[in-house]
This record gives sequence, C-alpha cells and structure tokens, in this order.
Amino acid sequence: YLGGEPRSQAIADDVPAEMYSFSALPEYRQVKQTSDELEALGMPNPYFQSHDKATGNMTTINGVELVNFAGYNYLGLAQHPRVCEAAKQAIDQYGASVSASRLVSGERPIHAELEQAIADWVGVDAAVAMLGGHATNETTIGHLVRTGDLVLHDSLAHNSIIQGASLSGARRRPFPHNDWEELDQILHDIRRDYRRVLIVTEGVFGMEGDFPDLPRFIEIKKRHKAWLMVDEAHSIGTMGATGRGIAEHFKVAPGDVDIWMGTLSKALGSCGGYIAGSADLVEYLKYTAPGFVFSVGMPPSSAAAALEALKIIDEEPQRVTSLHRNAEVFLRIARQAGLDTGRSRQTPIVPVILGDSMMTMFVAQRMLLQGINVRPIIYPAVDESAARLRFFINSEHTEAQIRSTINILRQLCEDIRSEDSDFLSNGG
Ligand code: PMP
Repeated sequence: YLGGEPRSQAIADDVPAEMYSFSALPEYRQVKQTSDELEALGMPNPYFQSHDKATGNMTTINGVELVNFAGYNYLGLAQHPRVCEAAKQAIDQYGASVSASRLVSGERPIHAELEQAIADWVGVDAAVAMLGGHATNETTIGHLVRTGDLVLHDSLAHNSIIQGASLSGARRRPFPHNDWEELDQILHDIRRDYRRVLIVTEGVFGMEGDFPDLPRFIEIKKRHKAWLMVDEAHSIGTMGATGRGIAEHFKVAPGDVDIWMGTLSKALGSCGGYIAGSADLVEYLKYTAPGFVFSVGMPPSSAAAALEALKIIDEEPQRVTSLHRNAEVFLRIARQAGLDTGRSRQTPIVPVILGDSMMTMFVAQRMLLQGINVRPIIYPAVDESAARLRFFINSEHTEAQIRSTINILRQLCEDIRSEDSDFLSNGG
C-alpha cells in the first residue's frame, strides 16, 4: 500500500460497531445489564468474590469467616497437609511446569503413577490425565465422533459435554433427563442412520444432585451397539461405599462403561481431568486427542496432589462415610423444613429451589450476612422457575452447621413469604 485512501474504506464504514467493538457487542451488553441491575438494587455482585485462603467447610471472605457450601472440595483434601506437601515435593523434583507436550518431552514418572492409580481406582485397564475436566470432555468427545456419527447426551449435561459434541461435527441430540426409556426409543428409531453412537451421562448431576440408573444405560448401550461415557466429575470420590463412583454404587462392572471421565478438581483436591477405560482407548487418545497431544503435560504438582488424595481416601475411609452421612442429614432436614430440594438423592449436591432469580440472589446475600456462603444459580443458567441455591456438602461439615444453615434458610423463606410488599422493589 503506497498511500492515499484505502480502497476498502467505503465498505468498512458500513460495518456496525457491534461487529467489531466489544463495548457494543450485544452479548456483552447483556452481561453488563445484569450487573447494572444488581447495582441498582443495591446488591453486591455475587461473582468473583475473592476468598482469603483455602476453603473447606469454612471459608473467609474479606476477613469474615463463613460456613461454606459453595465449593466442591468434597472430602476436604484440597488443603490437606499431605496433599499440599506432595505438590511441593513434586515441584522441587520436577519444576513448576513440564514445558512440553507429554508426547514430546513433557513426560514425567508422576504422570504414569497418577494414571495407574486412577485406572486401579476406577477398576479399568488404563487412564490418561489431561489439563482440565472441561478440556478433557471437549477434546475427547470432540475427537471420538465426527460427521455421520451421533452423540446422545442427557438434557442436563455439563457444558463441556455439549461443547465437545458440537466441536465433533456429529449430530448432537439431548434425551430427557435420566430418561433411559426415551433413550432406548430414540436408538430404536434412528440407530441405523448413524455410524458411531456415543451416549453421554453423568455420575452425579451438578445442578440437581441426582444420578442416572446406570445398569439400564449399560443394557441399552449394549443392545444398540453404542459407546457409553459417564462423566464422574461429581461422583468420583463421593459415590459408592469407598468413593469409587457410580459403578460401585450400582455394583456394576466398571468395564461395562466404555469411557469413564472424571475431574481431579473436586473430591481429589487438585486440578485436571482424566479418561479411564480400555488400554486401546487410552493409547488412542494419548497419541491423537488434540487437547492432549497439542497441549502441555499436566503440572507435576497437580498430578502429585491428586495421587496423594487417592492414597488418603483409601487410608481414611471415614472421609467418604462422613460425606455420605452429611449428605443424608442435609437432605432429610431440608425436606423436613419444607424446602424444595428438587430431585436430589443423597449426593453431595443439594439444590434448594426458590423459583425466582431475584429472590434467590436476595436470599443468598442474606445468608452471607448470617455467616453462610452458598451460591445462587439463576436464569439463564437454569429456567427462571428453577432458580435455586446450590449447596455443596462436604465431609467436614458438622451436623450443627447443617442444622443452623437450614434453620436460617427456612426462616428467611418464611419471612419473605409473609411479606406482602414487593421486597425487591426496595432492594429487600
Ligand atoms: N464435568 C462436569 C459434570 C462438571 O461439573 C465440571 C465442572 N464443574 C466439569 C466437567 C469440568 O471440570 P473442571 O472444573 O475440573 O474443568
């Protein structure tokens, strides 16, 4: 270009700001509008609240101690001295980063140790550990199926499953939540129109705290010659007598599920994701899954932390037992108090459905003022009528904490219901 007016000027002038300016982006303006509305109502922004230190059954925000129901550190291992020490030792030994894809020069002994421990834990041949749970789903689902294939996933599947399915180019079709009969019918009707079929469900559903009838899903996948993938993000370490997940809960053979996916970020107190299954599946992914091959190897500290967490869960079985007891106590007392706990079934996730986004935000804020940290889940994350507080129970909660939390919540709900005036119009 040698000067003068650029020839393309006239065309560029016509492009509206929302096509190139982030401040005019309609999607961003939506986000901005919500935070402006909260501000106008005098409510503090509930997102990105900074916690001062490690969080378990308690947390500290701006120096204020709170009973914590907002994190998925289910077994209290994220801040366990042995887990932290293992991470530190791994850094001393291997450094903070492996500085390469594992395929190239990023492989360290701690990776194989962790993967063998996960495979043994799940009860299958092999496992591969990836950088994040979300990335694991995205790259694995995105890679295993393609155009001409079909992904059938639960209608409440996590975003990472939907993203993976969309990325794959396969047809993506949700089936009604946990409805294995409908799934069976869909497969009966359309299985023959597709090559590979991947069914995806979850061990425990993160918004609902319920779980699928796994033996039925296994039966169906066998009958229709499909792959079955189970995302155990919230069930590994939490379900089953010893925390081995939904297969242990239902006493099914782990080998009956083709693809076990899990995260290291919840019960295992670390960060990362895994796929566990047959040696063939794992070898295939290790050589070809883009999010594994073209990404750096897991930091040794994360691998070591998760490995130590698995050892502790085995050595201290009371952690899982006490999680189960707390989940049972919370659900029972909440129901006795007349709270709507939706579909939750004695898992560490208990929603309390309030059915109105603003009211949910308001109650969450009031709970905070009374020393309890629980997060609101509001529209559009869920339907307006399903707006809720989501309680994550962990093994460290005491019965007294659970009882007083439910009492406070029940009282708040009663106060709101008994108020005739529009409590929100004056900011509560
Ligand atoms: N799957 C499910 C069902 C999840 O709930 C989550 C995260 N909450 C993920 C995958 C992603 O895991 P991570 O946060 O470890 O990336």
